[in-house]
Amino acid sequence: DPRLEAISAAIRVVPNFPKNGIMFQDITTLLLDHKAFKHTVDIFVDRYKDMQISVVAGVEARGFMFGPSIALAIGAKFVPLRKPGKLPGKVISESYELEYGHDRLEMHVDAVEPRERVIIIDDLVATGGTLSAAISLMESQGAVVVECACVIGLPEVKGQHKLKGKPLYVLVEPS
Ligand code: IMP
Repeated sequence: DPRLEAISAAIRVVPNFPKNGIMFQDITTLLLDHKAFKHTVDIFVDRYKDMQISVVAGVEARGFMFGPSIALAIGAKFVPLRKPGKLPGKVISESYELEYGHDRLEMHVDAVEPRERVIIIDDLVATGGTLSAAISLMESQGAVVVECACVIGLPEVKGQHKLKGKPLYVLVEPS
């Protein structure tokens, strides 16, 4: 798919951000490139439009930049999965491991119904810890996670093994 080259080219790599040794994949430059941004959304929309998906769940913060456009185009609702303390209603919470320490993701309990079919969107998967927490939140409410989808997949960490058996779909790997 020639669109993937345009997407790759639009992602900026920033060495040593946010700390030394990290090659940060910056999708804000993808958002600045209308064609590449549209290709990104279009590819996900084409993939999910006929899969009876009723929920697109986006992981804070960069999942929020792709998820709503996909949700609108496929006729699904958008559910934000947020960092702790941001959601005002009744929430469920799931913690996950970071390289150093823990973090949590939260979701409103009334955001999904049992048996709803969900895709989970984020910008990037590395270890898969974040997506695993997102899957657990959805499954705790009886929703069915059909697939996790990311713009970028870091190949060396093999996040797939952590995704509780759910399929992972990524558009590009860092060059
Ligand atoms: P994981 O939980 O190890 O799979 O890490 C994925 C999470 O870390 C996602 O929410 C990403 O937004 C974030 N992340 C890690 N590295 C990068 C990066 O290079 N660019 C953008 N986000 C990153």
